Amino acid sequence: RGKRAFIAGVADDNGYGWAIAKSLAAAGAEILLGTWVPALNIFESSLRRGKFDESRKLPDGSLMEITKVYPLDAVFDNPDDVPEDIKSNKRYLGSSKWTVKEVVESVKQDFGSIDILVHSLANGPEVVKPLLETSRYGYLAAISASSYSFISLLQHFAPIMNPGGASISLTYIASERIIPGYGGGMSSAKAALESDTRVLAFEAGRKHRVRVNTISAGPLRSRAAKAIGFIDMMIDYSSANAPLPKELSAEEVGNVAAFLASPLASAITGSVVYVDNGLNAMGVGV
Ligand code: NAD
Repeated sequence: RGKRAFIAGVADDNGYGWAIAKSLAAAGAEILLGTWVPALNIFESSLRRGKFDESRKLPDGSLMEITKVYPLDAVFDNPDDVPEDIKSNKRYLGSSKWTVKEVVESVKQDFGSIDILVHSLANGPEVVKPLLETSRYGYLAAISASSYSFISLLQHFAPIMNPGGASISLTYIASERIIPGYGGGMSSAKAALESDTRVLAFEAGRKHRVRVNTISAGPLRSRAAKAIGFIDMMIDYSSANAPLPKELSAEEVGNVAAFLASPLASAITGSVVYVDNGLNAMGVGV
């Protein structure tokens, strides 16, 4: 049987989540997506209208099949957590069962189990503010959407993950080195995500035989990255200074995710794997 993957954080064809879905599909996995509720309508109608057909192309010429798209808001664990203003927000009213617990229940009902969980989402409402000017609200919101969301997804999915299963998240080197401009507590959120990767690798490994790794990816011009405002500069900096002076493609990250999710990586867990043209190894710019 092929493996089944749930990829949280895909709402267009520009980000890492989409590329990871493609690499997993190319390797024979069945693809389920979790799409942020406010972005669901545009994503699904674009899919239906064939807007992504060109980028659905796999190396063998076939098109990636997406078996099902689930609405998801990973900052809410169950319906009791959802505040009134979100409940009555018109972008949320059209969808149902999008809290983490409900999504996992739906996946269980629809398919029984999964093998691969991918967390490719982050959000920090104050990302453009320096940490020194970040509010408590902004900081906690960044951690909730970008770090705890992974704990919650793994906590709920692990019981329906087949032994030998794997989970992967995406992190950024701003967790361990100073990257001016990556503010709002997002650097803190990535530090938490990386630390949690180690602790969860132990706990999920012992309890469920599930592996937990994170990919520290180099800069990509995704929708989320454009919102931060310095992505072109980071891409230029990497081209100028990394050991491999080329632009990073999302596919290169997708392929490493497919490797980490596969039995080829059966002894890798609790790791931060750099996919950044080697930039992390530099001590000074050139
Ligand atoms: P992206 O815009 O493709 O992905 C982010 C996704 O998160 C979007 O689809 C958005 O709808 C979703 N999202 C936001 N809040 C959500 C919530 N509450 N519930 C569910 N979904 C939610 O951008 P990306 O850059 O590919 O980001 C994917 C991951 O890669 C993130 O963790 C990001 O931090 C990480 N990353 C990105 C870069 C980069 O340069 N682009 C570098 C290193 C790491």
